[in-house]
Amino acid sequence: MIDLRSRIRDVPDFPQKGILFKDITPLLSDPRALAEAVRRMAETVVPPEAVVAIESRGFIFGTALALSWGVPFVPARKFGKLPGKTVRQIYSLEYGEDTLELHADALHAGQRTVIVDDLLATGGTALATTQLVEQLGAKVEALLFVIELRGLGGRERLASYPVQALIEYEVAEEPR
Ligand code: AMP
Repeated sequence: MIDLRSRIRDVPDFPQKGILFKDITPLLSDPRALAEAVRRMAETVVPPEAVVAIESRGFIFGTALALSWGVPFVPARKFGKLPGKTVRQIYSLEYGEDTLELHADALHAGQRTVIVDDLLATGGTALATTQLVEQLGAKVEALLFVIELRGLGGRERLASYPVQALIEYEVAEEPR
């Protein structure tokens, strides 16, 4: 079994002072480790009927998972990027707010989805994505992450859903 943790690089004070950024590019540059990460993520849940992945690093793992399960890939994008009719969800950041969108026809009522991102911190981004999926009447069966920063309340915020992460870190302070 490959030590995936050794393929995550800590970058202090990026993108701003006080943030310990978890850089996944060493994992991406190692095809065996990347394949193992995707395989392990795929094994943690019952295959869904669609993968909803969060812009932008979630797309890397979400695409691979959708292909491995043979199910549709649905991008959750930042405001203004999707050309068709959309549903929107505003969510809070430490300073200010942001908006995520899904194409309104991307999912159908009752469709079983899994939400994918690279990293879970406070859970605000992931929770907004669950709300988008549910606006379309689809179901969130699980949320999958490569990395979980524990101690920031993400798992607690997502308490009504199964949450899985390959690598966990205990952190004491806000990541951003
Ligand atoms: P949150 O909404 O607080 O759970 O933040 C999750 C999103 O922010 C994910 O899309 C991550 O890619 C990004 N993020 C937050 N903190 C970090 C960190 N320390 N290192 C890398 N990415 C992060």
